[in-house]
Amino acid sequence: MYDYLVVGSGLYGAIFAHEAKAHGKSVLVVDKRSNIAGNIYTENIEGINVHKYGAHIFHTNNKKVWNYITKFAEFNRFTNSPVANYKGELYSLPFNMYTFNKMWGVVTPEEAAAKIEEQRKEITHEPQNLEEQAISLVGRDIYEKLIKGYTEKQWGRDCKDLPAFIIKRLPVRLTFDNNYFNALYQGIPIGGYTKMIANLLDGIEVRLNTDYLENKAELDALADKIVYTGPIDAYFGYELGTLEYRSVRFENELLDKPSFQGNAAVNYTDRETPWTRIIEHKWFEFGKDENGNDLPKTIISREYSSEWKPGDEPYYPVNDAKNGALYAEYKKLADAEPKVIFGGRLGEYKYYDMDQVIAAVLDRCDTELQ
Ligand code: FAD
Ligand code: UDP
Repeated sequence: MYDYLVVGSGLYGAIFAHEAKAHGKSVLVVDKRSNIAGNIYTENIEGINVHKYGAHIFHTNNKKVWNYITKFAEFNRFTNSPVANYKGELYSLPFNMYTFNKMWGVVTPEEAAAKIEEQRKEITHEPQNLEEQAISLVGRDIYEKLIKGYTEKQWGRDCKDLPAFIIKRLPVRLTFDNNYFNALYQGIPIGGYTKMIANLLDGIEVRLNTDYLENKAELDALADKIVYTGPIDAYFGYELGTLEYRSVRFENELLDKPSFQGNAAVNYTDRETPWTRIIEHKWFEFGKDENGNDLPKTIISREYSSEWKPGDEPYYPVNDAKNGALYAEYKKLADAEPKVIFGGRLGEYKYYDMDQVIAAVLDRCDTELQ
């Protein structure tokens, strides 16, 4: 009999398992995939750590989280500065003086502020949706070229039907600073995320290719308590209906040349290009292998966003009002399961970044593990 059965070897499950073991508890981790690490899984191909479930850049302002995670990996100095490609015109992201200069020819912060002020006047009330929020932050020109097409591809919904908060994730700066994140700490774990998760799971029994829901009775019998990091609606057999998720499909290509786009991420912000962005993985580690040598080849991933349907990987929860209300109903069912802790991006149906997952699981460990 184990003290805990942890369902999911992603960031949430791996940290919970590590902390439980450190508190003298016995733990079994199961994952339905054939690899550990959940969505932050990286695989080394031709010397390049490929982010198999989408590009992941660690960033945080939370010192406790940073001090914790750096015990399991050394981070490099990667700073995310994506480029937007709108029909062949390149713009700097996030929205900063380089972007405003290219868009309007403005040179000073005052000129840029005046331009934004003039364009945001069309929004006269508190923004009610993503479109209004975007225009009120950066004006219509940037909304039309850099936000509308990308967002509608990413979410498969009209910007008027999306919550305003999604776009507030992006900084708007009147300086020449194209660091995508407002974060004190940022980087990529040297050697890949999978190694970091393997370090967390060191000495812990892990069973891969094991679907908890398909073997529930048998697995439940093995442990006193369950930590479940899969989708909350799947746990309850979708009895109240399905929550909506966005899924992503990746088309990976190995190219026999040293560089494809000269940057880790290029977003295609027009509506017509079918992919949302192209990731060139080697640039997360400056184009070098682990010995510091230049890599002769490159691997790119085109990212296509789609609506989730049963059988697909759920990637992004759709945190709008309708899904929020349905989640609240599932949460009531979850609270009535005394033996089960629901955690992580799918278990809590939250658009969590990695650092928020770490903060959430550490809080949970504080109350759970004595
Ligand atoms: P997951 O990593 O999803 O782990 C859940 C695990 O549970 C999976 O391994 C799954 O196989 C397993 N599981 C599910 N159901 C079952 C079952 N029935 N039986 C057994 N196992 C099961 N965050 C950032 O901070 N920076 C970024 O740049 C960033 N980029 C992202 C890009 C994309 C495309 C996506 C989708 C997310 C991104 N995130 C980023 C968010 C980040 O991926 C999450 O915050 C984090 O990985 C969530 O960890 P988790 O453990 O909650 O979930
Ligand atoms: N976004 C956009 N244009 C871009 C990049 C992002 O309009 O070039 C919008 C889009 O709606 C996206 C949101 O900003 O969903 C948040 O972007 P972020 O990069 O934080 O999304 P992630 O993929 O990391 O969750």
